[in-house]
Amino acid sequence: AACGQKKDSNKFIIATDTAFVPFEWKDGKGKLTGIDIDLMNAIAKNQGFTVEWKSIGFDASMTAVEAGEADGMIAGMTINDSRKKKYDFSDPYYTSSVSMATAKGSGIKSYNDLKGKTVVAKTSTSGFEFANANKKKYGYKLEVVEESSIMYQKVKNGDAVALFEDTPVIKYNIASKQVNFELPTGTEGKFNYGFAVYKGSNKELLKKFNAGLKALKENGEYDKILKKYLG
Ligand code: GLN
Repeated sequence: AACGQKKDSNKFIIATDTAFVPFEWKDGKGKLTGIDIDLMNAIAKNQGFTVEWKSIGFDASMTAVEAGEADGMIAGMTINDSRKKKYDFSDPYYTSSVSMATAKGSGIKSYNDLKGKTVVAKTSTSGFEFANANKKKYGYKLEVVEESSIMYQKVKNGDAVALFEDTPVIKYNIASKQVNFELPTGTEGKFNYGFAVYKGSNKELLKKFNAGLKALKENGEYDKILKKYLG
């Protein structure tokens, strides 16, 4: 008998965002898909472990990892110093930034045009951090929501004039004709995405992720996954 062995050490629960295209979302058939999903599944295959997915949202994923309800998370998560106090990150796997998106023809040309208007960002994200840090300077009202899809809906409806989110996600939404938006300003900052575990825990999983990522970069599978979603 597996005396005292509480859990199958070959299976890990991985949390992710609900819809953060093209990194994760559910396709028309309800199947979880995207760069993060393919990458993690390929790493698991390469390193000989299995993944149980929890598609629960970005802030919810961080909470789940912290609470030990998930072993790790992959959700286009920005590696930064404040998060490093709470999480251990893998080697970076993608470089990104934040941008502001507005409805085409809205007349918003710069952050100064946001004065007195409402903008929207998603809880706990890099987009939120940027929008929050500049709120006073540009005099806008910041609304915070849980899901990216709600941000896009609010800008479409005119409930908000702009949203702040990671540049590749906005661009993918525009390219797939989900929204008729534009990016009137430049990109903000530059950061990397990493896979995360709770600080000091799941060291073995983190090691496997890094080893798998390295292998996929070497054997061309990493490039293939990016190409599949980004062309
Ligand atoms: N990269 C951003 C962050 O880590 C957004 C991630 C997301 O919304 N899934 O805060």
